[in-house]
Amino acid sequence: PSDTGRVLSIQSHTVQGYVGNKSAVFPLQLLGYDVDPINSVQFSNHTGYPTFKGQVLNGQQLCDLIEGLEANDLLFYTHVLTGYIGSVSFLDTILEVINKLRSINPNLTYVCDPVMGDEGKLYVPEELVHVYREKVVPLASMLTPNQFEAEKLTGLRINSEEDGREACAILHAAGPSKVVITSITIGGILLLIGSHQKVKGQKPEQFKILIHKIPAYFTGTGDLMTALLLGWSNKYPDNLDKAAELAVSTLQALLRRTLDDYKRAGYDPTSSSLEIRLIQSHDEIRNPNVELKAEKY
Ligand code: ADP
Ligand code: PLP
Ligand code: ZN
Repeated sequence: PSDTGRVLSIQSHTVQGYVGNKSAVFPLQLLGYDVDPINSVQFSNHTGYPTFKGQVLNGQQLCDLIEGLEANDLLFYTHVLTGYIGSVSFLDTILEVINKLRSINPNLTYVCDPVMGDEGKLYVPEELVHVYREKVVPLASMLTPNQFEAEKLTGLRINSEEDGREACAILHAAGPSKVVITSITIGGILLLIGSHQKVKGQKPEQFKILIHKIPAYFTGTGDLMTALLLGWSNKYPDNLDKAAELAVSTLQALLRRTLDDYKRAGYDPTSSSLEIRLIQSHDEIRNPNVELKAEKY
């Protein structure tokens, strides 16, 4: 492991606003990574707005880009990062890409945010759940589901810390040695649960971080969180708890700034989904001030 790397990031692009690659590329670059984005879609804005327009990349078009890189011997990557994927055929092509990159670099780290939905609602086709479960999770090095996604992948209902820890254990058995459930809502507080299985088959090291829930809805936070977890866990490969503290600390400072800016402009922050103030938070990305500490179990 080294403190930097070359990341292939296959995610959404929006012309305006910060989700997908727009919220992942800049922070990873600030943390010192070379980032090569492939835009799985190019939309005018994120799908939380009343309307959006744009293009969707298909599996063949993804193959074309990979073939172009391959023809020039440009397929050496240390990391692959994937987020929202809209179709089974595109997801299948991503699996082929991962296998190809692993044949070139057996130490390739695959960081997967299994974006499927939130708050009880699925926003990808139902068939995708099965593909994630059976084919994608087994290839992942690190998985960063939210509560709903962890439930979909394990079949568990997660209503407590214990449930969250058990879900992580089930996911380890399926493949990834690092699992971070980025938020579980229990009685108005947010709980992050992290789990690192250092030796296959053995008990994972687990921790939690309690997060004060900000009364507003943000888009792009999950994508940013996963990018930061990739960035920091590569720098601290044996301290997932430290990586998570750093990532959460950046998120909290950035969300506070976002809220303050909206309020100052006279907006009601609870009325719609807020665009994060990513660029303005560059200092908090590079040098997070850790206020929220991880508690080991
Ligand atoms: P996703 O967008 O994938 O559902 P989460 O909701 O788990 O992801 O958000 C990722 C991270 O963003 C959380 O770990 C937390 O640090 C931060 N976050 C998101 N929404 C809030 C909020 N309302 N208040 C405080 N932190 C939040
Ligand atoms: N990608 C696109 C195109 C989106 O519209 C969204 C949310 O609206 C996301 C990704 C995911 O955002 P989040 O990080 O909040 O899960
Ligand atoms: Zn998400």
